[in-house]
Amino acid sequence: MFSLVHGKPMVLGSSHDVFRRCGKKNCKCAEGKLHGPFSALSVNKNGRRKIVMIKKSDTPLILKEAKRYRYFQNTMSQVRRINKEIDLLLTEVKTRTLRDYP
Ligand SMILES: [Zn+2]
Repeated sequence: MFSLVHGKPMVLGSSHDVFRRCGKKNCKCAEGKLHGPFSALSVNKNGRRKIVMIKKSDTPLILKEAKRYRYFQNTMSQVRRINKEIDLLLTEVKTRTLRDYP
């Protein structure tokens, strides 16, 4: 179990492996054996998806921070769903037990 309120940095996006062609005609990638994997982040901002390449030296740190962000987002979604259920249940309890006086 991880804590959500840890104060550690998180980076927006989900990690992906990217394979590429270098463009040289005689390279193995020209026949389909692409270079990679390279690490990249897929970032959705303002409804647009963007792929951001991660520098090799930054990769371990950024992947860790992206994982932290994904965990945070998933947990927050679960908390919101549970809060909705609690709200519905309490509203039902109120509806069943509340009476007018006199
Ligand atoms: Zn190549």
